[in-house]
Amino acid sequence: MTKEEIFAIVEEEDVEFIRLQFTDIFGTLKNIAITASQLEDALENKILFDGSSVKGFAPIEDSDLYLHPDLSTFCIFPWRPQQGKVARFICNIHRTDGSIFEADPRAVLLDAYDKARQSGLNIFIEAECEFFLLNTDDKGEVSLNVKEKASYFDIGPLDMSENIRRDIVLNLEEMGINIKSSHHEIAKAQHEIDFTNQGAISCADAIQTFRMAVKTLAKRHGLSASFMPKPFESENGSGMHFKISILDNEGNNLLLEDGKPGKKGMAAVAGILEHACDTSLINNPLVNSYKRLKPGFDAPVYVSWSSNSNRSTLLRIPAERNNQIRFELRSPDSATNPYLCIAMLIYSILDGVEKDLPLKEAINENMYSNDIENVKRLPSTLKEAIDEFEKSDFVKEKLGTHIFGEYLNAKKAEWDEFNNAVTDWEIKKYLERY
Ligand code: GLN
Ligand code: MG
Ligand code: MG
Ligand code: MG
Repeated sequence: MTKEEIFAIVEEEDVEFIRLQFTDIFGTLKNIAITASQLEDALENKILFDGSSVKGFAPIEDSDLYLHPDLSTFCIFPWRPQQGKVARFICNIHRTDGSIFEADPRAVLLDAYDKARQSGLNIFIEAECEFFLLNTDDKGEVSLNVKEKASYFDIGPLDMSENIRRDIVLNLEEMGINIKSSHHEIAKAQHEIDFTNQGAISCADAIQTFRMAVKTLAKRHGLSASFMPKPFESENGSGMHFKISILDNEGNNLLLEDGKPGKKGMAAVAGILEHACDTSLINNPLVNSYKRLKPGFDAPVYVSWSSNSNRSTLLRIPAERNNQIRFELRSPDSATNPYLCIAMLIYSILDGVEKDLPLKEAINENMYSNDIENVKRLPSTLKEAIDEFEKSDFVKEKLGTHIFGEYLNAKKAEWDEFNNAVTDWEIKKYLERY
């Protein structure tokens, strides 16, 4: 889209407000709203904001940052008023001297994407987003009291949220995000919406737009959407699977070579396994994330892959074959920062291909059985993930020292806070007994 086209749409469609959006290092979508009269300034990259008040961004003494709207991300929010409409751009962030702001997660992804292109790799991703739709109580607060009894692929009236999912899908399609399918997930009140295959940057942008749309539309239906990875102890958590295809510049699928598993594709898979632990803090960013990665809940526990439809591994090759063949990464969860997550995924793939890393044997048996030996485990707590992250030169180099340091400090503080908390579990277990 050109600037002229955008001015024309804003005029014709009676757009009154424009949100300039960006994401912080922890994956939270932020925005500043301007009126349409400021559009010209915005498109000349003249809108400033205070980076020091965004956690993990800029120090107080050097806090002015500029928003550079990405014109291709312009769209109108279909759920806002039809008169005096609201539109948005996703923005890149620059310093006052014009240089790229190194703590902008989208910049990290743009860089990773460029590096992959330079290496002749084209990476496409189909994201599968899981989330919960929960009731609110009399006070309007989100409640874990779920009345719904639906499970995997169930239909209404058991599935009580068919209409919300329909609303979400239609709204997203109107915003230019193509949806492949949607369904009720395994846990009660859990849902999944899958995007069609797309490039890495538009995939990360779509995930952020999706989260905003789901939260907003759920609220309109009187519910509260949650992307917390594991709200219910004895139910599945919410993952964010990526189905990944890697093509070379001629469009050849790297996972396939003369009808056999391709050498480069296998090295790419080895790269992802190699960095499964040191990137875990990005893929699974919360204390709660590690409660999802337990045996028996369709989420990975070990650093393993399978050549079939074994869903207990970290990576699997779904049943599609020939040029359609691709792999599914199952570790990232619904709370991950999609820009950093996909950037690290790309770098892991590049590392595997560049070093021609050998791929260990596939494990096609159920990884939740008790006799798994000699297979590396994923970190099982936030603390273990912090330790893996902290000692990784790879992660430090790829994220850049700014994000690496800020992210690490924040996660250490989060772990300390959790460690100091006296939890409901402890009260229930110990208060009366001792
Ligand atoms: N919810 C599972 C997870 O945590 C996945 C289950 C599924 O997609 N069928 O990843
Ligand atoms: Mg799915
Ligand atoms: Mg699913
Ligand atoms: Mg899946």
